[in-house]
This record gives sequence, structure tokens and C-alpha cells, in this order.
Amino acid sequence: MAETRRVIFSAGDGIGPEIMAATQRVIDRALAEAYGSEKAIIWDEVDLHKLSEDSSILERIKAAGTALKGPMMTPVGKGARSINVALRQSLDLYACVRPVKYFAGVPSPVVHPELIGMVVFRENTEDIYSGIEWNAGTDEVKRVISFLENEMGVKKIRFPETSSIGVKNVSKEGSERLVRAAIRYAESNKRRSVTLVHKGNIMKFTEGGFRAWGYELAEREFGAKVDDKGVIRTASGIEIKDCICDNFLQKALLRPQDYDVIATLNLNGDYISDALAAQVGGIGYAPGANINYETGVAVYEATHGIAPDIAGKNLANPMSLIFSACLMLENFGWTEASARIYAGVEKLLAAGRVTSDFYYLKTSQGEKAELLGTSEFADAILS
Ligand code: NAD
Repeated sequence: MAETRRVIFSAGDGIGPEIMAATQRVIDRALAEAYGSEKAIIWDEVDLHKLSEDSSILERIKAAGTALKGPMMTPVGKGARSINVALRQSLDLYACVRPVKYFAGVPSPVVHPELIGMVVFRENTEDIYSGIEWNAGTDEVKRVISFLENEMGVKKIRFPETSSIGVKNVSKEGSERLVRAAIRYAESNKRRSVTLVHKGNIMKFTEGGFRAWGYELAEREFGAKVDDKGVIRTASGIEIKDCICDNFLQKALLRPQDYDVIATLNLNGDYISDALAAQVGGIGYAPGANINYETGVAVYEATHGIAPDIAGKNLANPMSLIFSACLMLENFGWTEASARIYAGVEKLLAAGRVTSDFYYLKTSQGEKAELLGTSEFADAILS
């Protein structure tokens, strides 16, 4: 009997509809090529713009367990809260998983992009990112500042009359479940190390707490201890180490081969994921997944934004969403289909057949390239 999986999808804004159409075409065809009619996806569309008014959307995602989403617009500094953040919080998708891997033929700004093979586990529900903030000049911020100054003895707010205030919350549970997921991933994917990246030298209780709780968890649940070479290793041999975030950003450029699985808090993780993606050729093709490993609910998404400058022009690179959908296939255990897609993409890249983002980079570096539109790129993967 055929095995089917329901996948809730929302195309999103800007280039979203173009890259979603290309992705669904590639996925359906790869499944048909790999498994005939034995395995298929039932695509079930929702409009995530209606997330706050239609509670059935969350229920549908929970019931299916899997969603694929295109990028969505988030206004800066005003208006509604980010739908992306709301979705991650409502479904408690605490791990944002971003594999960063180089594909030959992709123009990269670094000399040896092939040395980069990292998977970033970014905590997705806490930190300064969780949206607890008050705008300068409001009654609310005045109350918060008055509480801090008068009841907590805080004297460090330099300009209290004109400050906005944000809260950075980091918990033991939140840190532990993220680090646990990263170490389990490292174990089941035969990776070498997990690095806890933090700013605990400055933010001692939040970022420093993440580091301390991470090491404690590694020791308690994974048997980590110092080996005869002075390296901390889990019972299964995974090295556990830590690095201060600014130093990590240097090291990721200078010695990327020393890093493998990265576990980090929300804001660091945001910067690190995009910086690493740029090192292997840009955020146009890095994939991402937001996962709750306890409930099993996962939302796969393109890691770039809505690219308003090229929307509707058939110029967008669909690889980020396609590779995110490949992570989804792998999670289903449908690896034959994802392997076919990677093989198709590798052939295209090696032949220099690329979308506009890579085309202009390649030609400006004196390399030969053939320009393909979004849908032609999908066609080329299929053929
Ligand atoms: P962006 O990723 O949309 O664009 C940055 C640059 O990269 C632009 O020049 C764009 O043309 C290019 N680019 C991005 N994706 C591309 C692709 N697939 N192919 C080719 N070129 C691509 O980032 P931004 O300009 O900072 O953000 C624009 C909007 O997107 C904002 O409203 C932001 O909130 C939103 N955004 C959403 C998500 C999400 O839904 N997960 C993520 C990031 C940004």
C-alpha cells in the first residue's frame, strides 16, 4: 500500500510563491522517480498570514506534524509581531537546525569553502529574541525602568528617559533540551564535536548559564568526561567544547575544519547561521528546519527572506527551500528521493547552470555560467 505524508504548506510573500511552486514540483517528481507510486506527499495549503485569527492552522500543523513554509515579510520596528517567531513559539519549535555545507561550483567569498561542514542548532524560543520589549517613552517602559531602578537597584541605564527595554530570558530547561538535541544529532550522524557558542564572559547568567548547563547535561546524560588528552568527550566519543561567539566568528573563517555541530542561543544563532551560509556561497541556498524533538512537529523553511527586489521576476534561487524540503524527506526516511535531488543540483552547479544570484557572482569572478530562471532551474534538476 502507498505511504503518504500530509505536509502543510504556506508559500509566503515576495519570492515565496515562485520558490514554493518550484520546490513542490521537484519533490513530487523525485518521489515518483525514486518510489513510483509507493510514496507521496499530500500538500495541504494554509495561509500563515491568518495565524493569529485562525486557530485551526496550528491544529492542522500539529496533526500533520510537518509544514513547509516560504519566507514571510516582517515589518521592522513597527506593526504586527513576526509570524515566524509566533509560529516557532506557539508550536514550541525550540531547535532551529541549519546544516551548512559547500557544493562544488557555488561561488564563495572564501578560499576553501569545502572545509566548512557544520550544523547549527540555534535555540529558537528564548533569549532577547522572544519579543519581551517595551518602546521608549511608553507608560509600560517607564514602569519597567522605575521597577529596575527603584526596586532592583539598577544604576546602569545610561539614558532612562529615552530607553527602550528588552528582556533576555534563558532557562536551564531551554538550554538543556537544545544541547541534548545537538548531542543526539552528533551521535546519530557520526559527527566529531559539539561546540557551545556563547557570550558568557559578558552575560554571565544567561549566556554563561547556557554554557554551564550545556556541559552539565553532557556529563549527566551523555557521560562526558575529560579524556587522557585533556579533551571532554561523551561516552560515545563526541568532543564537547565551547567558544565565545565573537571568537567563533573569526575561527569559523580561519579554522572552519575545527567545528562541526554548533549549539547556541537565539540571537547568536541567527547571526552565525547567516554568516556561515555566506561562507559557502550565500543564504540563497542554505536550508533550515524548526523542530520540537519531543512532539515531533517540524516546520521546514527557506532561510532567506522574501527578496522583494526580485519578487515575481522568475529570478529567485529556489535551492534553500528545495534543500529544506530534502531535510524533510530525510526526516521521513525517504532518503532515496533527497539523494536524487542533491545529485541533480550537484550536476547543475558543476556545469555552471545557475540562477541570477550565483550567475552574477560567478561571471564577476571570471567564471563561465549559464543563467537559468527559477522555474527553468527546477526543470533542469528534473531533467
Ligand atoms: P532577504 O533575504 O529577503 O534579501 C537579502 C538579499 O538577498 C536581497 O538582495 C535578495 O534579493 C537576496 N536573496 C534572498 N533570497 C534570495 C534567493 N532565494 N535567490 C536570490 N536572491 C535572494 O533579506 P531582507 O532584505 O533582510 O528581508 C526582506 C524581508 O524578508 C523582511 O521583511 C524580513 O523580515 C523578511 N525575512 C523573512 C524571513 C523568514 O520568513 N524566515 C527570513 C529573513 C527575512
